[in-house]
Amino acid sequence: RLKEGRALAQDVWSIFNAANLPADCINLGQGYMNFPPPQWVKDAADEALNTTVGNHYSHPKGRIRLRQAIKKRYDKILGRDLDVETEIQVTSGANEGQYSVFTAFLDSGDEVIMFEPYFDQYLPSVVFNEGKPVYVPLHPPPADMLNTTSNDWTIDFEELRRACTPRTKMIIVNTPHNPVGKVFTREELEKIADIAKEFNLLVMSDEVYDCLVFDGKEHIPIATLPGMWERTVSVYSCGKAFAATGWRVGYLIGPEHIIAPTLAACTRIVFCSNSPLQEAAAAGLEQAEERHFFEKQNKEYEERRNVLVEGFDRLGLKYTLPQGSYFVLLDISSLHWPEDFPFPKSVQGRGRDFRACWFIAMELGVSSIPVSEFYCEEHTEIGERFARFSFCKDLDTLKQAVERLQGLK
Ligand code: GLN
Repeated sequence: RLKEGRALAQDVWSIFNAANLPADCINLGQGYMNFPPPQWVKDAADEALNTTVGNHYSHPKGRIRLRQAIKKRYDKILGRDLDVETEIQVTSGANEGQYSVFTAFLDSGDEVIMFEPYFDQYLPSVVFNEGKPVYVPLHPPPADMLNTTSNDWTIDFEELRRACTPRTKMIIVNTPHNPVGKVFTREELEKIADIAKEFNLLVMSDEVYDCLVFDGKEHIPIATLPGMWERTVSVYSCGKAFAATGWRVGYLIGPEHIIAPTLAACTRIVFCSNSPLQEAAAAGLEQAEERHFFEKQNKEYEERRNVLVEGFDRLGLKYTLPQGSYFVLLDISSLHWPEDFPFPKSVQGRGRDFRACWFIAMELGVSSIPVSEFYCEEHTEIGERFARFSFCKDLDTLKQAVERLQGLK
């Protein structure tokens, strides 16, 4: 059976959930903020809740106000005149959007290429839809290389080409990348695009961290490269854009021949996304430009990143400097713990990074996510060198976390 093994194993988010950790443990694990969405965004949800229609079903495509707000922002980003009726699909978080694409397009045994490490949700979502994940490595920088950045995680394009077979239906591109923080360069995306065209692949471009890019780097949607619009569905997340991960509002943008079947899948999975928070998301996207919201927010995240990595520098810890997203990979390969340390069943029998992250949470009071969760079982060894720390937190919390992590020295 396909639906065995990793796809049905307990997910890392529930193992390292705050509920299982000491109450005063600082959460740098699952990526959600310890600050609220902007007030002017929340106000729109409030207004919707105070109307009757705001509490009822939306159109399965998403509320028209939100689709128009998406068009306003993404016409510019994608260089198109998006059709709000046929090219935009509101989803219940990016997860459900991606799941719907798999449901709409995968036939049994279809192969889906993903770069490894991959956001953990891809694997079960592909497997539940009877697809077969195929992994192509993002090669980590050599273990002895100092001052590595997310750009030092590299793709061997011959390896990518060799992974394509007549059964390959789709490739998932994730930029800015979770968990590495890599922002794919134009050159890399062009090479991926060439392979996608050569093998006639559908591209799922997971761009949920599109608003978080640092060091003057540029986020490039692969859909904007020549010949790519027709074969690409781009995935976005209001949770990341507006510090609202629990809203479960996201959206897909793509050509009608991709969005129409995906709409059919979305309609049967959730029917529609929740209504009042679609109104909030609409207000967010409508006003973001005049408020310079994303520019300001991006600067705040860059500062948060710097506080965390400068702390790691002072402690002499090795990490990958992320150029996008809100995660830092810390090298934990030299961390040791007492042999008799009590580990719960959920982390026993997983990679050593599960035990390392548990030990750090229990002993030092900072949670993180073991990176082998983002690798298939056979490649656990590569991922277990790293723990992922999230910096979507206020500066004081990050400073306090760095203090506590002195114990890693
Ligand atoms: N994307 C978030 C993270 O990587 C949360 C994962 C999820 O969907 N459970 O931390």
